Parts: sequence; structure tokens; C-alpha cells
Amino acid sequence: MLKSYYEILNITPEATKEEIKKQFKKLVKMYHPDINSSFEAEEIFKQINKAAQILLDDEKRKNYDALRNVNKEIYKSQKIYKKYSSGYTFSDLFSKKEKEKEKEIINGKDITVNIEIDYQEAILGTTRTINITHSSICPKCEGHKFANGQKCTYCNGLGEKIQNKKITVKIPPSIKNKTKLRLKEEGQKGINGGKNGNLYVIVNVINQKDLKIENNTVYYDAFISPYTAILGGNITVPTLWGEAVIKIPPLTKTNQSFKLIDVGVLNEKTKKKGDEIVRILIQIPSKITSEEYHLYEQLKEINSKKKNAKYIY
Ligand SMILES: [Zn+2]
Repeated sequence: MLKSYYEILNITPEATKEEIKKQFKKLVKMYHPDINSSFEAEEIFKQINKAAQILLDDEKRKNYDALRNVNKEIYKSQKIYKKYSSGYTFSDLFSKKEKEKEKEIINGKDITVNIEIDYQEAILGTTRTINITHSSICPKCEGHKFANGQKCTYCNGLGEKIQNKKITVKIPPSIKNKTKLRLKEEGQKGINGGKNGNLYVIVNVINQKDLKIENNTVYYDAFISPYTAILGGNITVPTLWGEAVIKIPPLTKTNQSFKLIDVGVLNEKTKKKGDEIVRILIQIPSKITSEEYHLYEQLKEINSKKKNAKYIY
């Protein structure tokens, strides 16, 4: 480390002008080239002269002290104080200070994105490619927006560079709704060696339409018309694994259930699927034509003539 002017004169920074003068005279007598002919003495004599020149001038000493204090404060923690122990002017100091400020370490921000997957994907695992917009300080103008006195052409004067990045996210099997996946350091870029932020992916397992899930069993209510209930017919129902066709037998009653085997929830351990229970509900049409009305009247008429029909209205 270079010596301060106080150290060169071997005095404390609190020394008065009289004390400095006294000490300077003493050192001159020791190191003046006429008295001391050694090479070291010549060098020391130069240094004590320079130190006295500064410290005996009120204005120069004031500036020097201010510089020392600022330097200490700014650079102490950064362990580069030694560079500034003497000899710098204020303009050097402030430009250095500015540069250090620019080099402040800033960690990148986290990014959170939501994605949707369906139930099969949640069970089996899947991948999604997502587009991430990264912004980072322009490497050319370093965020100043200008380079060489002109608008920075690299970032078009924005001071930052926007980059789109495609990231493929691997979604593991058996993932639960609202699971937050963390992709380390795929967030916004850190500045001056700061860490990148993380990318968080929230996985939303979208509800399968009208399917209720309990343990490994899926439940579904299928609405059928009165004539399908009476005459029978094929109906299509959703399952977790696609659509299935159920053959409704004639005279199917409301609340009657059908079991679809092996289309329920996959058990990860046993690798077996549960079942789906389809409950039949007869839906009365909200509108009918007059022709249908007359046909129903006829049905009612026929029914009233039947034996044992007295509890059915
Ligand atoms: Zn730029």
C-alpha cells in the first residue's frame, strides 16, 4: 500500500500546521541531498517535499483529507483502498466511483408462468415449451442508451436487450394441480455477475368436464332422453383417457349405473387403472313439438289401460 502524506511525514492526520512545518524541517535535515547522498534519501526527500506541499496548503490539504475519507468509505469494503491512498484528483475519484456504481451486482428477477395440462398428462408426465422474455443490460452501451456519442445501435437506444428464449419444461408424472416447478436461474439475467433469477412454472391440471374423481374411481352423470331410456341405445361418455361408448339397454331407469372398467385413475404403484361409474339420469326435454305432445298423450292413454299402472302417473 502506498503511504499517505501523513505517513510520509510521520505525523497524525490531526497534526497542526505548526507541527507539520516542524516535522518537515526535521526530515529535510535528515534527507536533503546535500546531507544524505543515498539513493533512498533522494526518493524520500522528493516524497516529503510533495507531502509538505499538499499538507501546508490549506485548500490542498482540505481536498486531500476529503478524498481520503471518501475513498475509505467507498473502497474499504471492496479492498481496493490501496489504489486510492494518494495522488488521485477528484475527477478521477468520481469517474471511478461512477464506474463502480455501474458494476453494482444485481440479481435477476424471478419469472413466473402458468401452464395448463390435462389429466392424462398430469398422470403420465409431459413436456411444454414456453417462451420467456429475458431483458438484460445492453452489453454495448452498458445501459447508457448511447455509445460513442450516438444512440446505441445494438439496443436501439433502449439500454437493454430483450431476448426471447424457448425453454422446454419437463413435467414429471403424477403431478398435482398447482404444483410450482422451479427452473433454476432461467429467470431474468443478473447484472455484473449477479445471479440469474429463477423461472417458476405453475402447473394447472385442467378439470375434465363433469368428471368427478374419488381415489381411483371416476364418476360421471350421463343425461339421456326418455325415449333412449325406454328404447335403449348407444351413448358416448367422456373418460380420463378419451371417450367411451355405453350400450344403454331398453327400459333403463334413472339413477341406474354402469361401470366402465379400467378407465379410471392410474395407480402409479400398481400401474392399474380404477373404474368409471356412469350414472344415468333421464332428462325431460324443455320443449316439445305438438306432434310429440300428441304422441305422449297417446302413450299416457295406452298406459292408463294397463293393469297395475295405478301408481305411475
Ligand atoms: Zn445499447
